[in-house]
Amino acid sequence: MSDPNYNLAVIGGGAAGMLAAGHTAEQGASVLLLEKNKILGKKLLITGKGRCNITNAEDDLKTFITTYGKNGKFLYPAMYTFSNKHTVDFFKKLGLITKVERGGRIFPHSDKAKDVVDCLANYVKKNRVTTKFNSPVKKICLAADKHKLQHIEKLILENGEEIRAHNYAITTGGKSYPLTGSTGDGYCWLKQLGHTVIDPKPVLTPIIVKDKITKQLEGLSLKNVELSLWTTRKLASFFGEALFTGNGISGPQGLNLSKIISESHANNLKIKIDFKPALDYPVLDKRILKDFAELNNKLFKNALHKLLPKKLIPVIIFLSGIDENKKVNEVTKAERKKLLSLLKSFELSVKGLVGFEKAVVTSGGVCLKEINPKTMQSKLIDNLYLAGEVLDIDGPTGGYNLQIAWSTGYLIGENFCKTN
Ligand SMILES: Cc1cc2nc3c(=O)[nH]c(=O)nc-3n(C[C@H](O)[C@H](O)[C@H](O)COP(=O)(O)OP(=O)(O)OC[C@H]3O[C@@H](n4cnc5c(N)ncnc54)[C@H](O)[C@@H]3O)c2cc1C
Repeated sequence: MSDPNYNLAVIGGGAAGMLAAGHTAEQGASVLLLEKNKILGKKLLITGKGRCNITNAEDDLKTFITTYGKNGKFLYPAMYTFSNKHTVDFFKKLGLITKVERGGRIFPHSDKAKDVVDCLANYVKKNRVTTKFNSPVKKICLAADKHKLQHIEKLILENGEEIRAHNYAITTGGKSYPLTGSTGDGYCWLKQLGHTVIDPKPVLTPIIVKDKITKQLEGLSLKNVELSLWTTRKLASFFGEALFTGNGISGPQGLNLSKIISESHANNLKIKIDFKPALDYPVLDKRILKDFAELNNKLFKNALHKLLPKKLIPVIIFLSGIDENKKVNEVTKAERKKLLSLLKSFELSVKGLVGFEKAVVTSGGVCLKEINPKTMQSKLIDNLYLAGEVLDIDGPTGGYNLQIAWSTGYLIGENFCKTN
């Protein structure tokens, strides 16, 4: 049996768990951190394609919070205590220099997610958190006393070991990328403990389309494009980067679009890609005419290189139906119109979404009404705290999801010693 004198036992050594454990210990509490993997922050290592987009540089905190939609207001106390700016300062103090990229995305200057994990692992260690690796928690046991507010008595690890602490924090993340250790354990326990868990769904996940043509475009990364989602009307649009996969669309704006798809009940959803959003139809037509005039004697197949990435050209030629061996000055107005519509409105039919295996985040989770936003304490169980993706809140790409984990994890530590 473990030392019952820990003030707090944190389950899950990811982004939220490391902040919660480290900052609570920094305030003077004795903290135990339990992680099922043999390392801390396994998921963090693959974030931002191995570069870890730690937060976003959005200047106005209110605007920052609105990106989380209707559940965002829950985050006010956490974000005002530990905002995106605090995140940058926090990592700077730990020796991590950051840089801002397009869309306000903040990365470590080294471009290495491992540096973020190392900083946090040192932070946890420096504050004398006791970390137990290879320690999956199997069960959470409530105390028998039925008259008081519910109270956790102990944890049982998979190897049968019992862990007792005065308080507990669940920071086990969501269900996405389960190979990293986030297998949704927290949701199961919390349901058993009486919490409401809003159905977890994979979001920010690659989109699968019906059109086989994407196979030819696999790996093509697009910058400055507009992706929009349609039924009989436009449902949403995003501007920025996207990526063709073998069976659909991914990349930052593809992932953002997937969230709208997951929330839509409509059939027959269509994605339209505008490859030239900065140019409206008449301006783009003039630009094509100018290119064609300059390349007067060239064949159509050799006349699109200024306009489009190499990999896209044969696909656009095929879909346009224009003879690739035609001279550009022989391309008719009607053919040009078809070309224009492909460039401004390249249409794909949505088949579905890739599941939890490749989802960046999980939507749904523990109902926010049952958590005190000022402390992250459960309103149903008096010695339980929650932080990170296990909560029913998620954001778009761009560093917004990790900021939830940092802010809510930190808030546990900030108030813990005042209330315990
Ligand atoms: C591929 C990918 C890229 C991403 N890129 C970004 C990005 O660049 N920027 C961004 O803002 N967000 C990104 N995200 C999202 C971000 O990683 C998550 O929102 C964030 O990690 C959630 O933090 P968390 O601490 O709540 O959960 P997690 O990081 O998932 O940590 C949970 C921890 O709990 C442990 N655990 C689970 N069950 C148990 C148990 N039973 N016993 C003990 N330990 C347990 C797990 O092993 C894990 O270490 C990305 C996600 C993915 C999958």
